[in-house]
Amino acid sequence: MNKRGNPMKTFLDWSAYQDAGMGDAYADIPKTGGDFAKAVAVCINSGACEKHNDKGVMCPSFRIGGDSRLSTGARVRLLKAALNHELGEQLFVDPDLRLAMDLCVSCKGCKRECENAVDMALIKIEYLAQLNEQEGLSLRARLFAHIPFWLHRWPWLGQFIVWRNAWPVLAKLGEKLLGIAAHRQLPVPVATAFQAPAAPPDAGRREVVLLVDTFSRHFDPDVADAALAVLQAAGYRVIVAEPAQAGRPLCCGRTYLAQGMVAQAQAEARHMLAALLPHVEAGRPIIGLEPSCLLTLRDEYSALDLGTVAARVAGHTLLFEEFIAREHTANALHLKLKPLDKAVLVHGHCHQKAVGAMKSMRKVLKLIPGLQFEMVESSCCGMAGSFGLEAEHAAVSWEMARQSLLPKLSQAPDSLVLSNGFSCRRQIAEGDGRAGLHLAQLLRDALA
Ligand code: SF4
Ligand code: SF4
Repeated sequence: MNKRGNPMKTFLDWSAYQDAGMGDAYADIPKTGGDFAKAVAVCINSGACEKHNDKGVMCPSFRIGGDSRLSTGARVRLLKAALNHELGEQLFVDPDLRLAMDLCVSCKGCKRECENAVDMALIKIEYLAQLNEQEGLSLRARLFAHIPFWLHRWPWLGQFIVWRNAWPVLAKLGEKLLGIAAHRQLPVPVATAFQAPAAPPDAGRREVVLLVDTFSRHFDPDVADAALAVLQAAGYRVIVAEPAQAGRPLCCGRTYLAQGMVAQAQAEARHMLAALLPHVEAGRPIIGLEPSCLLTLRDEYSALDLGTVAARVAGHTLLFEEFIAREHTANALHLKLKPLDKAVLVHGHCHQKAVGAMKSMRKVLKLIPGLQFEMVESSCCGMAGSFGLEAEHAAVSWEMARQSLLPKLSQAPDSLVLSNGFSCRRQIAEGDGRAGLHLAQLLRDALA
């Protein structure tokens, strides 16, 4: 029994749903699962996720072939059946349920586009945590989950990845032993990870905190350098967030959540909150670059049982584009930009779209004189963290990319591609050949 009298132990805190569907005779809340079951049962069976749609994100897995088992609503139906013990006594191991959940890319499209905001990405974390407890974790899941740790502890891993990418025999061995798709290129960490410069003297400037995530730190430090340059050019004193105690750089815990490793994500989150709280108390906004990382603080942390500090910190976090747009709207942005005579195609990260951050992207891009930009109407790029690198998912990942994103990019071969998600940029680089830029890099290019 857990603290809410729910006989099924849950790994996430689902108390936000404790009143969901209560008193509604049609809510059809499953018998087991407590508040988790209520979160599943918020689906009103409208069928909107099972209609073919060229707009929006929901639901990438259903869009690629129209398989009726792969919509958000179908996942809900299977989960309800499992929680009602209609799929066997051992919850969550039914093959159809496995397939449906396995092909959910956690894009959060449903959280924004489903009429009743079914949060399948969060539900999947709980589902994976439940499966992990029953069956344990694969070596690959551990490998991907601990990436922030490996990259810090063993920087020589980069050379090994270079060899793996260059020698097909090693790539094939990796597929056989670990299930990492041999034909996919793995991202190579840079030899020298991002190093935070000392914050300049105070001099009465407004202070902001830059949260450098694992991916910007180890794979794409130029994104963090560009953000620093832009924020400093705009007159802010930039403090790079550091752990409260010496040790590994801060990590939001996203790679752990993606594998259902809730306890490890909680540990990362506690370090993160301890480091950020003093900044929040000092009134400094916390600016993040990688959508899935920064938005973990605003979204998943609320289900990690972290106490009131999580909401306090979340209230001060902003994506880079949200911060620049907010400052501009408040007439507080002092950024001198020169004209850029360039055409840009913009692909939004699913999590940016889920929180409506594409409006901020648009606002900021309009600040650059002469820039011609177009927002690409695309669903998920298909990479979705490590999903596209996994042998059994690589083909599906490309199908997702070919649904709309890659064809649209191919229509404008001379345009720059802008994409704030690290995994989106990887997918675009491999599928289209263009190295995508982060908004911070484009703004740096436009600094007067
Ligand atoms: S998941 Fe959402 S969109 Fe799909 S059927 Fe349920 S309520 Fe409708
Ligand atoms: S999170 Fe994305 S892939 Fe998963 S059910 Fe929702 S829309 Fe579909």
